[in-house]
Amino acid sequence: MERLIEGYRQFRATQWPERRAMFERLATRGQSPQTMVIACSDSRVDPTMIFNAQPGELFVLRNVANLVPPYEPDAAFHATSAALEFAVRVLQVRHLIVLGHAMCGGIQVLLNEAAAPARDFLVPWMRIAEPARERVLQRAPLDPQSECERESVKLSLENLRSFPWIAERAEAGVLQLRGAMFDIRSGLLQMLRPDGGFEPV
Ligand SMILES: [Zn+2]
Repeated sequence: MERLIEGYRQFRATQWPERRAMFERLATRGQSPQTMVIACSDSRVDPTMIFNAQPGELFVLRNVANLVPPYEPDAAFHATSAALEFAVRVLQVRHLIVLGHAMCGGIQVLLNEAAAPARDFLVPWMRIAEPARERVLQRAPLDPQSECERESVKLSLENLRSFPWIAERAEAGVLQLRGAMFDIRSGLLQMLRPDGGFEPV
């Protein structure tokens, strides 16, 4: 914790004076980000850093394994769906990016539920990606982990389209849905192509 307090002091001393005008502008005018990123909570995957973005540019949601659940309007607490609704219906972002990553601990749980050390919420949450796991295992893959990471990005994009106000906007061409993969080891970003493959940026 002391490391973080010291980090804050450095931020106030060095970055704040340079960024003060920008934050004041954002405070006065409010935020109007063009892009929402759905990324993993993994401490090694920082969308702001990867896209070299500034405060106010990205509306970021991070959860375990960057999953989007299907549209289920009921009385349960849907944190991911609430963030999506805020970004799409209130802020009216133009782009939704599902950012997956290599070596995802959530995907490890998906592939080996029995070994999961935490089961209250983690295992049920990862079951959102069960259709992705099924598709991958049917193909008898060489590398189930990395194929599941990719397939779950595609599944999340499909689930995004189950939200009626996302599907409408995507169809009207005012909202773009994209998938991406970040490789922690190499720092390389790949974007999902319409044909289902991933290509380096
Ligand atoms: Zn992850």
